[in-house]
Amino acid sequence: MRMLLIHADEMSFEARQKTPIAEEEPPTKSASVEDCLVVFAAVQEADERDPEAVVKAAADEIEDVAGELGVDRIVLYPYAHLAEDLSDPKVAVEVLKGLEEELKGRGYEVTRAPFGWYKAFTLSCKGHPLSELSRTVTPEAVEEEAEEALPSRYMVLTPEGDLVEVSCSEDLGDVPEDFRHLVAHELGEGGEERDEEPAHVRIMREKGICDHEPVSDVGHVRWYPKGHVMRRALAEYVEDRVVELGAHVVETPVMYDLTVEAIREHADKFGERQYRMRAGNKPLMLRYAACFGAFSVLSDAVISHRHLPLMVYELSNSYRLEQRGEIVGLKRLRAFTMPDLHTLCADMDQAVEVFLEQARMCLEMGLDLELEYETVFRATRSLLEERPDLPHELASVIEEVYGGPKHVLVEELPERKHYWECKVDFAYVDTLGRPIENPTVQIDVESARRFGITYKDEAGEDRYPVILHCSPTGSIERVLCAVMEDRQKRFEREGVLPTFPTWLSPVQVRVIPVSEKVLDYAEDVLETLKAEGIRVDLDDRDEPVGKKVRRAATEWIPYVAVVGEREAESGTVTVTVRRESTPERQVKEEMTPEELAERVLEEVEGKPKVPLPMPERLSKRLEFGPAA
Ligand SMILES: [Zn+2]
Repeated sequence: MRMLLIHADEMSFEARQKTPIAEEEPPTKSASVEDCLVVFAAVQEADERDPEAVVKAAADEIEDVAGELGVDRIVLYPYAHLAEDLSDPKVAVEVLKGLEEELKGRGYEVTRAPFGWYKAFTLSCKGHPLSELSRTVTPEAVEEEAEEALPSRYMVLTPEGDLVEVSCSEDLGDVPEDFRHLVAHELGEGGEERDEEPAHVRIMREKGICDHEPVSDVGHVRWYPKGHVMRRALAEYVEDRVVELGAHVVETPVMYDLTVEAIREHADKFGERQYRMRAGNKPLMLRYAACFGAFSVLSDAVISHRHLPLMVYELSNSYRLEQRGEIVGLKRLRAFTMPDLHTLCADMDQAVEVFLEQARMCLEMGLDLELEYETVFRATRSLLEERPDLPHELASVIEEVYGGPKHVLVEELPERKHYWECKVDFAYVDTLGRPIENPTVQIDVESARRFGITYKDEAGEDRYPVILHCSPTGSIERVLCAVMEDRQKRFEREGVLPTFPTWLSPVQVRVIPVSEKVLDYAEDVLETLKAEGIRVDLDDRDEPVGKKVRRAATEWIPYVAVVGEREAESGTVTVTVRRESTPERQVKEEMTPEELAERVLEEVEGKPKVPLPMPERLSKRLEFGPAA
């Protein structure tokens, strides 16, 4: 497609007479548009091969120019005289309509002049250096970019250390069920997406943790106090860990300017769907991770080899325009919160060393959440040829953390497709056998150059570092999703009563007085525990004890302390320990409030102490969600 782009003070046209190839239903017969970019366009024969690709390429070019000029009104004007090898008129109309839609979708006000009419027009060009430009786009340019090219090769690294090529999950032989699900998913099998709702969706609502927000875009979540406290605990937990490792914590904007070349290139390489928009005349995008902000901070910094490995961390509220139909519970969202660590390394050797350390950190954090992951290691063929031991080294880390070997799926990419040379994805496999991708570590060999990030080596020379991207837990939402799925799965498979890890549990201890007579004592118990930083509440509602106890169980509260007259006299509490109980048998222990505090503190040692963000007396508390 050939285009002539003119920045105009005004463009007016009027369709006067049809030609034999005229568009049946012209969009408009006349218009007058001020301060606009006029795009005269001729669709060529070569464009017939892939009209969609041409539409996209043309829209990209127009967006570039419009962004630079700061205009948001576009006049699309068919102009056959720009080319000799014109396409079939039907294709031309299809492309022009497609381009109109595409540009509207990108936030422009578009006026399209009818195709195949004799038209009168007047045009006043602004006459500055950028006011007249010509562009040619072809389907090929886009196809090259989009070409997923050669397929990956998949291998399984067995616990015995053999790499065995697999082309379908039937090749696997005897492997654990979750790993089989992971492989099937990676190989694109089991495409029969079951409509069944994953277990966590019911759980998150039932427990008043969170729900979708109906007055926002789809895939945006509202968090109730119980969800808020879990998010805060997780956020503090990850931040504490990475700071211990030596990270610098920053906060950067959520919105980025797509006219900055490095931003646009990196965004295009990322591949996933993005929230893009315009504000005034500027094309913008919402970040899908903390990369842009971290890179910008690092490109402004003076970095020496002595700083390396250098870590920058941010808890990044991130956005991806996932397809409406793919949005499920907390697993796939359009807005999510991602702990995001970027590490600069001097060279590939250091990067690989840190890669393995961070993979270990991811797995260990999983254990703090009582989650075990399945592993996919992805690398380019050239990296695997240079470092054939790397998958085995990763497998050793996994074996050490889990106390036994596990299968690892290895994807070999024929060439580098994204910005990374290798990455590891740790996935939790849910109750329906679907992997939830959680932590990841990636070795990025492109971004330092693209964003102008350098460090001074020992000789004082500027060098480009290798950059690791790591989310030590995966998004906060997916962590909670995986924890809920896991507890449901273990309940179904092994009859284990579900609980959140105590440090993450919204309420750690509930105090239940059997009658009003012992309310004062129950309040003393509450105060004793609260003074230790334990999240404790008091069910002071006028309801039967049995009902209150059942209610505490549906909230998965790890310690339920019942107090009656006997306890009040002896200065004790009778505690139901959920973690040790089974559906058939409750484990109860009598202890002093101090002993209970000690026990909880021991369990949450080294984890954040986040206070209860709601009234501690249930009589004063609003219940959220359908459980209310
Ligand atoms: Zn990143």
